[in-house]
Amino acid sequence: MIEFPGLNILWAALPEARVVGGAVRDSLAGKPLADVDLASPLNPDEAMARLTAARIKSIPTGLAHGTVTALVEGQHFEITTLRRDVETDGRHAVVAFTDNWQEDASRRDFTINAMSMDRAGTLYDYFGGEADLHAGVVRFVGDAKTRIAEDYLRILRFFRFFARYTIGAPDAAAVAAIEDLRDGVLLLSTERVWSEIKRILVAQSPIAALHLMQTTGVLERVLPQGYDVPRLTTLITRRAPVDVYLRAAALLTGDIKSIAARLKLSNDEAEILQSWQTPTALQPTASDADLRRALADSDAPTLIARSWMNGNWPDLRARLAATPRPVFPLQGRDLTELGIPQGPRIGKILAAVRRWWLDGGCVASHEDCRAQALLTIVK
Ligand code: ATP
Ligand code: MG
Repeated sequence: MIEFPGLNILWAALPEARVVGGAVRDSLAGKPLADVDLASPLNPDEAMARLTAARIKSIPTGLAHGTVTALVEGQHFEITTLRRDVETDGRHAVVAFTDNWQEDASRRDFTINAMSMDRAGTLYDYFGGEADLHAGVVRFVGDAKTRIAEDYLRILRFFRFFARYTIGAPDAAAVAAIEDLRDGVLLLSTERVWSEIKRILVAQSPIAALHLMQTTGVLERVLPQGYDVPRLTTLITRRAPVDVYLRAAALLTGDIKSIAARLKLSNDEAEILQSWQTPTALQPTASDADLRRALADSDAPTLIARSWMNGNWPDLRARLAATPRPVFPLQGRDLTELGIPQGPRIGKILAAVRRWWLDGGCVASHEDCRAQALLTIVK
């Protein structure tokens, strides 16, 4: 039986609906459920009418694909009408509605993703998904080559689920099909590629998946600028926290600006990667003054992220987290008060005093810095 807040209320309105896909898989695997998707033989209008009659708010989020979103107890549930593929071209599919559960299951990608479960807790497992889940096998529903040619994103989805569920060797048919059709990933939109790479990276242990991506030739196609799997392996071996950008910073090599442009990273993402890849000179032997100097330029989370690239240094991290960020106590207006006219000279003096303040370990007071500014002016 699948338990999730609000689900029983939804089932009271749509008793013929079943939970499908990831929620069935993850509940069988004993993993926590992030969200719950359902399918139903009702067409979207009927489903919405039923929800409205039960006073459940619904939003037509994807009517063309048969999806409505129901809002129950603050939870969002996607309810999709059963579908079958009419036409596929490797990137898009034309679908038609059906009332046949097995037809809907057979267009799903992997056996572990093709199960459904009804209100009474009955599992519908048309392709041996439960056995594959427990054996740690990610296997395509149907012929791997055909399924990949329908939608090349499935190559990357394979690695996403491989990274999460595989125990032991990968499915040989899947690997052979991926090797054959690997150029298909070049047709995918970069947003989808980057989003899949991120999901692979946050799996508990993505290394085996990345090795397989390398040997099948997929990794060089999705990251032509370069990658460093050993560096990521080292980071994970150090037991760094599971953080997508920490892992991406370790994996990606090459100029971040051109990677960002190619993979269409957001500005925030590109900035974080660039910053976290910046080598740090901070070692565990750093003095308190060294720490303050580093913190004057970068905040503690940034310095901690950078330190993970070099080692697992719990003491250094604790000290960084506990040290207040020093703030340079002099501003331009302090200098105008001392009679320096507005202009580039102010910046130069400030920079010189700041260097002096840093050299002294960031402890000089406002008064000390003012005095130092006066000295600088006199010189
Ligand atoms: P996650 O926990 O990563 O969200 P998920 O199984 O929910 O896992 P989604 O990408 O959210 O994965 O997709 C939901 C379900 O829809 C999948 O379990 C699968 O049944 C089906 N699905 C999604 N994308 C595809 C695809 N490209 N080809 C075939 N089936 C797909
Ligand atoms: Mg999902």
